[in-house]
Amino acid sequence: MKFGTKLIHAGIHPDPSTGAVMTPIYQTSTYAQDGPGVHKGFEYARTQNPTRKVLEENLAALENGAGAVCFGSGLAAMDAIIKLLKSGDEVLGTHDLYGGSYRLLVRVFSQFGIKSRFVPMQDPDYFASQISDQTKLIWIETPTNPLLQIIDIEAIVKIAKQKNILVCVDNTFASPYLQNPIDLGADLVLHSGTKYLGGHSDVIHGAVICKTNELADQLHFIQNATGAVPGPMDCFLILRGIKTLHVRVQRACENAAKVAEFLQSHSKVNRVLYPGIPTHPGHDVAKRQMRDFGAMISFDLHNQDLDAAKSVLSHTELFLCAESLGGVESLIGHPASMTHGSIPREDRIKSGLTDSLMRLSIGIEDVEDLIADLDQAIN
Ligand SMILES: *Cc1c(COP(=O)(O)O)cnc(C)c1O
Repeated sequence: MKFGTKLIHAGIHPDPSTGAVMTPIYQTSTYAQDGPGVHKGFEYARTQNPTRKVLEENLAALENGAGAVCFGSGLAAMDAIIKLLKSGDEVLGTHDLYGGSYRLLVRVFSQFGIKSRFVPMQDPDYFASQISDQTKLIWIETPTNPLLQIIDIEAIVKIAKQKNILVCVDNTFASPYLQNPIDLGADLVLHSGTKYLGGHSDVIHGAVICKTNELADQLHFIQNATGAVPGPMDCFLILRGIKTLHVRVQRACENAAKVAEFLQSHSKVNRVLYPGIPTHPGHDVAKRQMRDFGAMISFDLHNQDLDAAKSVLSHTELFLCAESLGGVESLIGHPASMTHGSIPREDRIKSGLTDSLMRLSIGIEDVEDLIADLDQAIN
Protein backbone atom coordinates (compact mmCIF):
# COMPACT_ATOMS: atom_id res chain seq x y z
CA MET A 1 0.00 0.00 0.00
CA LYS A 2 1.34 3.45 -0.87
CA PHE A 3 1.46 6.27 1.67
CA GLY A 4 -1.71 8.18 0.74
CA THR A 5 -3.74 4.97 0.78
CA LYS A 6 -2.26 3.95 4.15
CA LEU A 7 -3.33 7.27 5.68
CA ILE A 8 -6.94 6.46 4.90
CA HIS A 9 -7.06 2.66 5.19
CA ALA A 10 -4.23 1.21 7.32
CA GLY A 11 -5.65 -0.31 10.50
CA ILE A 12 -9.07 1.17 9.80
CA HIS A 13 -12.05 -1.14 9.31
CA PRO A 14 -15.82 -0.58 9.58
CA ASP A 15 -16.82 -0.87 13.24
CA PRO A 16 -17.59 -4.55 13.95
CA SER A 17 -20.70 -3.85 16.04
CA THR A 18 -22.55 -1.48 13.63
CA GLY A 19 -20.58 -1.19 10.38
CA ALA A 20 -19.88 2.52 11.06
CA VAL A 21 -17.37 3.61 8.38
CA MET A 22 -15.71 6.18 10.65
CA THR A 23 -14.06 4.85 13.81
CA PRO A 24 -16.49 5.52 16.69
CA ILE A 25 -15.47 7.50 19.78
CA TYR A 26 -15.63 4.80 22.47
CA GLN A 27 -16.36 7.09 25.39
CA THR A 28 -16.29 4.46 28.12
CA SER A 29 -14.08 3.79 31.13
CA THR A 30 -14.79 0.07 31.42
CA TYR A 31 -16.15 -2.96 29.54
CA ALA A 32 -18.65 -5.65 30.62
CA GLN A 33 -17.07 -9.07 31.09
CA ASP A 34 -19.04 -12.29 30.51
CA GLY A 35 -17.52 -13.64 33.71
CA PRO A 36 -14.41 -12.77 35.72
CA GLY A 37 -11.52 -12.50 33.23
CA VAL A 38 -13.75 -13.48 30.26
CA HIS A 39 -13.77 -10.45 27.96
CA LYS A 40 -13.38 -9.26 24.36
CA GLY A 41 -9.82 -7.95 24.79
CA PHE A 42 -10.91 -4.78 26.60
CA GLU A 43 -10.97 -4.55 30.40
CA TYR A 44 -10.42 -0.96 31.53
CA ALA A 45 -9.87 2.13 29.36
CA ARG A 46 -6.49 3.17 30.79
CA THR A 47 -5.24 -0.18 29.47
CA GLN A 48 -7.21 -0.49 26.21
CA ASN A 49 -9.61 1.67 24.21
CA PRO A 50 -10.88 0.71 20.72
CA THR A 51 -10.60 4.26 19.27
CA ARG A 52 -7.01 4.53 20.52
CA LYS A 53 -6.18 1.04 19.24
CA VAL A 54 -7.24 1.92 15.68
CA LEU A 55 -5.12 5.08 15.79
CA GLU A 56 -2.11 3.10 17.07
CA GLU A 57 -2.43 0.57 14.24
CA ASN A 58 -2.72 3.36 11.68
CA LEU A 59 0.36 5.21 13.05
CA ALA A 60 2.45 2.02 13.15
CA ALA A 61 1.70 1.54 9.44
CA LEU A 62 2.50 5.17 8.53
CA GLU A 63 5.98 4.98 10.11
CA ASN A 64 6.63 1.35 9.09
CA GLY A 65 6.92 0.27 12.73
CA ALA A 66 5.85 -2.93 14.50
CA GLY A 67 3.60 -1.05 16.92
CA ALA A 68 2.64 2.36 18.26
CA VAL A 69 1.55 3.76 21.62
CA CYS A 70 -0.52 6.96 21.96
CA PHE A 71 -0.30 9.44 24.82
CA GLY A 72 -2.04 12.52 26.16
CA SER A 73 0.67 14.81 24.68
CA GLY A 74 4.00 14.71 22.87
CA LEU A 75 5.83 15.29 26.14
CA ALA A 76 3.91 12.47 27.88
CA ALA A 77 5.12 10.22 25.05
CA MET A 78 8.70 11.38 25.59
CA ASP A 79 8.35 10.89 29.36
CA ALA A 80 7.42 7.24 28.77
CA ILE A 81 10.41 6.70 26.45
CA ILE A 82 12.86 8.10 29.03
CA LYS A 83 11.35 5.66 31.56
CA LEU A 84 12.88 2.83 29.49
CA LEU A 85 16.17 4.01 31.10
CA LYS A 86 17.37 3.74 34.67
CA SER A 87 19.34 5.83 37.11
CA GLY A 88 22.97 6.25 35.93
CA ASP A 89 22.05 6.13 32.23
CA GLU A 90 22.63 9.10 29.97
CA VAL A 91 20.69 10.65 27.09
CA LEU A 92 22.70 12.27 24.29
CA GLY A 93 20.44 14.81 22.61
CA THR A 94 20.53 17.14 19.63
CA HIS A 95 22.01 20.52 20.54
CA ASP A 96 19.10 22.71 19.37
CA LEU A 97 16.25 20.68 20.95
CA TYR A 98 12.55 21.55 21.38
CA GLY A 99 12.37 23.56 24.62
CA GLY A 100 9.89 21.26 26.35
CA SER A 101 12.01 18.18 25.60
CA TYR A 102 15.07 19.96 27.01
CA ARG A 103 13.15 20.95 30.14
CA LEU A 104 11.86 17.41 30.74
CA LEU A 105 15.38 15.98 30.56
CA VAL A 106 17.23 18.71 32.45
CA ARG A 107 14.70 19.75 35.10
CA VAL A 108 12.83 16.49 35.74
CA PHE A 109 14.83 13.38 34.84
CA SER A 110 18.14 14.77 36.17
CA GLN A 111 16.52 14.51 39.62
CA PHE A 112 16.18 10.76 39.13
CA GLY A 113 19.81 10.19 38.14
CA ILE A 114 19.29 10.24 34.38
CA LYS A 115 21.81 12.67 32.92
CA SER A 116 21.54 14.46 29.59
CA ARG A 117 24.07 16.12 27.33
CA PHE A 118 23.32 18.08 24.17
CA VAL A 119 25.72 18.04 21.25
CA PRO A 120 25.73 19.16 17.60
CA MET A 121 25.00 16.16 15.37
CA GLN A 122 25.82 17.67 11.95
CA ASP A 123 29.29 16.13 12.01
CA PRO A 124 29.01 12.36 12.67
CA ASP A 125 32.67 12.04 13.71
CA TYR A 126 32.37 14.73 16.35
CA PHE A 127 29.13 13.14 17.51
CA ALA A 128 30.82 9.71 17.82
CA SER A 129 33.52 11.23 20.06
CA GLN A 130 30.82 12.44 22.48
CA ILE A 131 29.32 9.01 23.28
CA SER A 132 30.17 7.70 26.76
CA ASP A 133 29.77 4.29 28.38
CA GLN A 134 26.65 5.60 30.10
CA THR A 135 24.95 6.73 26.86
CA LYS A 136 21.86 4.55 26.49
CA LEU A 137 19.59 6.72 24.34
CA ILE A 138 20.26 9.10 21.46
CA TRP A 139 17.59 11.73 20.97
CA ILE A 140 17.53 13.27 17.48
CA GLU A 141 15.38 16.12 16.27
CA THR A 142 15.54 16.99 12.56
CA PRO A 143 14.79 19.56 11.19
CA THR A 144 15.64 21.40 14.42
CA ASN A 145 13.69 24.19 16.03
CA PRO A 146 14.01 27.11 15.29
CA LEU A 147 17.28 26.99 13.28
CA LEU A 148 16.08 24.31 10.81
CA GLN A 149 19.33 22.39 10.90
CA ILE A 150 19.35 18.92 9.34
CA ILE A 151 20.84 15.81 10.93
CA ASP A 152 21.73 12.74 8.87
CA ILE A 153 19.65 10.09 10.67
CA GLU A 154 21.30 7.15 8.90
CA ALA A 155 24.82 8.35 9.80
CA ILE A 156 23.92 8.76 13.50
CA VAL A 157 22.14 5.38 13.61
CA LYS A 158 25.21 3.68 12.12
CA ILE A 159 27.38 4.98 14.98
CA ALA A 160 24.77 4.18 17.65
CA LYS A 161 24.27 0.61 16.45
CA GLN A 162 27.98 -0.19 16.80
CA LYS A 163 27.46 0.45 20.52
CA ASN A 164 23.92 -0.97 20.83
CA ILE A 165 22.43 2.38 21.82
CA LEU A 166 18.72 3.09 21.28
CA VAL A 167 17.92 5.88 18.82
CA CYS A 168 14.75 7.94 19.00
CA VAL A 169 13.87 10.56 16.37
CA ASP A 170 11.41 13.34 17.20
CA ASN A 171 9.71 13.46 13.79
CA THR A 172 7.18 16.17 14.68
CA PHE A 173 8.58 18.87 12.35
CA ALA A 174 8.70 16.58 9.31
CA SER A 175 5.56 14.45 9.85
CA PRO A 176 5.43 10.84 8.57
CA TYR A 177 4.59 12.14 5.10
CA LEU A 178 8.06 13.68 4.69
CA GLN A 179 10.37 11.46 6.74
CA ASN A 180 10.27 7.88 8.10
CA PRO A 181 13.11 7.40 10.64
CA ILE A 182 12.49 3.66 11.19
CA ASP A 183 13.31 3.09 7.50
CA LEU A 184 16.62 4.86 8.23
CA GLY A 185 17.37 2.53 11.17
CA ALA A 186 15.89 4.38 14.18
CA ASP A 187 14.30 2.31 16.99
CA LEU A 188 11.67 4.81 18.08
CA VAL A 189 9.83 7.72 16.46
CA LEU A 190 8.10 10.39 18.51
CA HIS A 191 5.29 12.63 17.27
CA SER A 192 3.60 15.51 18.94
CA GLY A 193 0.24 14.71 17.32
CA THR A 194 -0.73 18.23 18.32
CA LYS A 195 1.09 19.49 15.20
CA TYR A 196 0.89 17.98 11.67
CA LEU A 197 -0.94 14.72 12.53
CA GLY A 198 -3.91 16.57 14.03
CA GLY A 199 -3.26 19.47 11.67
CA HIS A 200 -6.09 21.75 12.82
CA SER A 201 -4.72 23.19 16.10
CA ASP A 202 -7.57 21.71 18.11
CA VAL A 203 -6.05 18.84 20.12
CA ILE A 204 -3.03 17.97 22.30
CA HIS A 205 -1.73 14.47 21.61
CA GLY A 206 1.45 12.39 21.39
CA ALA A 207 2.61 9.08 19.95
CA VAL A 208 5.60 6.75 19.86
CA ILE A 209 6.08 4.34 16.98
CA CYS A 210 8.40 1.39 17.67
CA LYS A 211 10.58 -0.65 15.35
CA THR A 212 10.03 -3.85 17.36
CA ASN A 213 7.14 -5.47 19.21
CA GLU A 214 9.36 -5.72 22.30
CA LEU A 215 9.73 -1.94 22.50
CA ALA A 216 6.00 -1.45 21.88
CA ASP A 217 5.20 -3.93 24.68
CA GLN A 218 7.56 -2.16 27.09
CA LEU A 219 5.99 1.21 26.31
CA HIS A 220 2.44 -0.17 26.62
CA PHE A 221 3.48 -1.49 30.05
CA ILE A 222 4.88 1.93 31.07
CA GLN A 223 1.80 3.67 29.71
CA ASN A 224 -0.58 1.43 31.66
CA ALA A 225 1.53 1.73 34.79
CA THR A 226 1.86 5.53 34.68
CA GLY A 227 -1.43 6.48 33.01
CA ALA A 228 -0.77 9.33 30.54
CA VAL A 229 -3.38 8.10 28.03
CA PRO A 230 -5.18 10.27 25.47
CA GLY A 231 -8.99 10.49 25.57
CA PRO A 232 -11.00 8.74 22.83
CA MET A 233 -12.28 12.05 21.44
CA ASP A 234 -8.69 13.25 21.00
CA CYS A 235 -7.75 9.98 19.24
CA PHE A 236 -10.73 10.46 16.92
CA LEU A 237 -9.58 14.00 16.05
CA ILE A 238 -6.07 12.74 15.26
CA LEU A 239 -7.49 9.93 13.10
CA ARG A 240 -9.59 12.49 11.27
CA GLY A 241 -6.61 14.82 10.79
CA ILE A 242 -4.38 12.03 9.47
CA LYS A 243 -6.74 11.31 6.55
CA THR A 244 -5.61 14.56 4.86
CA LEU A 245 -1.98 14.62 6.05
CA HIS A 246 -0.44 14.16 2.59
CA VAL A 247 -2.64 16.79 0.94
CA ARG A 248 -2.06 19.34 3.73
CA VAL A 249 1.70 18.85 4.09
CA GLN A 250 2.27 18.82 0.32
CA ARG A 251 0.45 22.16 -0.06
CA ALA A 252 2.21 23.63 2.97
CA CYS A 253 5.61 22.63 1.51
CA GLU A 254 4.74 24.22 -1.85
CA ASN A 255 3.69 27.41 -0.07
CA ALA A 256 6.84 27.37 2.10
CA ALA A 257 9.15 27.14 -0.92
CA LYS A 258 7.49 30.23 -2.40
CA VAL A 259 7.56 32.15 0.90
CA ALA A 260 11.27 31.30 1.34
CA GLU A 261 11.98 32.58 -2.18
CA PHE A 262 10.10 35.81 -1.44
CA LEU A 263 11.96 36.36 1.85
CA GLN A 264 15.34 35.79 0.17
CA SER A 265 14.55 38.56 -2.31
CA HIS A 266 13.37 41.07 0.32
CA SER A 267 15.81 43.95 0.95
CA LYS A 268 15.15 44.09 4.72
CA VAL A 269 15.63 40.36 5.28
CA ASN A 270 19.06 39.10 6.35
CA ARG A 271 19.15 35.28 6.69
CA VAL A 272 16.48 32.82 5.52
CA LEU A 273 16.79 29.39 7.17
CA TYR A 274 15.00 26.78 5.09
CA PRO A 275 16.41 23.36 4.09
CA GLY A 276 14.94 23.75 0.60
CA ILE A 277 17.45 26.49 -0.24
CA PRO A 278 20.32 24.83 -2.18
CA THR A 279 22.99 26.68 -0.15
CA HIS A 280 21.51 25.46 3.20
CA PRO A 281 24.23 23.24 4.77
CA GLY A 282 21.75 20.39 5.26
CA HIS A 283 20.14 20.64 1.82
CA ASP A 284 21.65 17.45 0.36
CA VAL A 285 20.91 15.33 3.43
CA ALA A 286 17.35 16.71 3.56
CA LYS A 287 16.90 15.86 -0.11
CA ARG A 288 18.00 12.29 0.60
CA GLN A 289 16.04 11.59 3.79
CA MET A 290 12.91 13.73 3.31
CA ARG A 291 10.26 13.70 0.60
CA ASP A 292 10.13 17.52 0.58
CA PHE A 293 11.69 20.28 2.71
CA GLY A 294 8.88 20.94 5.19
CA ALA A 295 6.85 24.01 5.92
CA MET A 296 8.85 25.66 8.70
CA ILE A 297 11.00 28.71 7.88
CA SER A 298 13.03 31.00 10.12
CA PHE A 299 14.42 34.37 9.07
CA ASP A 300 15.91 37.48 10.61
CA LEU A 301 16.30 41.11 9.58
CA HIS A 302 19.31 43.31 8.73
CA ASN A 303 18.03 45.48 11.58
CA GLN A 304 18.86 43.13 14.46
CA ASP A 305 16.90 45.09 17.11
CA LEU A 306 14.32 43.25 19.16
CA ASP A 307 11.90 46.07 18.33
CA ALA A 308 12.25 45.52 14.58
CA ALA A 309 11.09 41.94 14.96
CA LYS A 310 8.36 42.92 17.41
CA SER A 311 7.05 45.40 14.88
CA VAL A 312 6.76 42.68 12.21
CA LEU A 313 5.08 40.35 14.69
CA SER A 314 2.48 42.93 15.64
CA HIS A 315 1.71 43.92 12.03
CA THR A 316 0.97 40.56 10.41
CA GLU A 317 -2.74 39.98 9.94
CA LEU A 318 -3.05 36.47 8.49
CA PHE A 319 0.00 35.11 10.31
CA LEU A 320 -1.19 34.90 13.91
CA CYS A 321 1.48 35.37 16.56
CA ALA A 322 1.28 32.09 18.49
CA GLU A 323 3.27 29.09 19.69
CA SER A 324 2.82 25.69 18.01
CA LEU A 325 2.94 24.70 14.33
CA GLY A 326 1.62 22.26 11.79
CA GLY A 327 -1.94 23.54 11.50
CA VAL A 328 -3.81 24.56 8.35
CA GLU A 329 -3.36 28.22 9.37
CA SER A 330 -0.03 30.05 9.18
CA LEU A 331 1.60 31.17 12.41
CA ILE A 332 4.53 33.45 13.26
CA GLY A 333 6.61 33.24 16.42
CA HIS A 334 9.54 35.03 18.00
CA PRO A 335 11.84 32.47 19.66
CA ALA A 336 13.92 35.07 21.57
CA SER A 337 10.89 36.26 23.55
CA MET A 338 8.60 33.23 23.33
CA THR A 339 9.94 29.65 23.21
CA HIS A 340 13.63 30.35 23.90
CA GLY A 341 13.31 33.28 26.34
CA SER A 342 14.90 31.30 29.16
CA ILE A 343 18.23 30.78 27.33
CA PRO A 344 20.85 33.46 28.26
CA ARG A 345 21.06 36.08 25.46
CA GLU A 346 24.76 35.56 24.81
CA ASP A 347 24.37 31.76 24.36
CA ARG A 348 21.29 32.32 22.23
CA ILE A 349 23.03 34.71 19.85
CA LYS A 350 26.16 32.55 19.67
CA SER A 351 24.06 29.64 18.42
CA GLY A 352 22.49 31.83 15.69
CA LEU A 353 19.24 32.58 17.47
CA THR A 354 19.35 36.35 17.02
CA ASP A 355 16.99 38.92 18.57
CA SER A 356 15.20 39.51 15.28
CA LEU A 357 14.85 35.83 14.33
CA MET A 358 11.25 34.92 13.51
CA ARG A 359 9.82 31.45 12.91
CA LEU A 360 7.02 30.76 10.44
CA SER A 361 4.75 27.74 10.34
CA ILE A 362 3.37 27.90 6.82
CA GLY A 363 -0.24 26.80 6.42
CA ILE A 364 -2.33 25.90 3.40
CA GLU A 365 -3.85 29.30 2.58
CA ASP A 366 -3.32 30.87 -0.88
CA VAL A 367 0.37 31.72 -0.94
CA GLU A 368 -0.12 35.13 -2.62
CA ASP A 369 -2.04 36.27 0.48
CA LEU A 370 0.67 34.95 2.81
CA ILE A 371 3.41 36.75 0.88
CA ALA A 372 1.43 40.02 0.76
CA ASP A 373 0.87 39.82 4.52
CA LEU A 374 4.57 39.30 5.28
CA ASP A 375 5.57 42.02 2.81
CA GLN A 376 3.39 44.70 4.43
CA ALA A 377 4.43 43.66 7.95
CA ILE A 378 8.18 43.69 7.15
CA ASN A 379 7.90 47.06 5.33
C1 LIG B 1 5.26 20.47 20.33
C2 LIG B 1 6.45 19.61 20.28
C3 LIG B 1 6.70 18.65 21.27
C4 LIG B 1 5.81 18.48 22.49
O1 LIG B 1 4.54 18.06 22.16
P1 LIG B 1 3.22 18.42 23.03
O2 LIG B 1 2.15 17.73 22.29
O3 LIG B 1 3.11 19.90 23.06
O4 LIG B 1 3.47 17.85 24.40
C5 LIG B 1 7.82 17.85 21.14
N1 LIG B 1 8.67 18.00 20.10
C6 LIG B 1 8.48 18.92 19.14
C7 LIG B 1 9.47 19.05 18.02
C8 LIG B 1 7.37 19.75 19.20
O5 LIG B 1 7.19 20.69 18.24
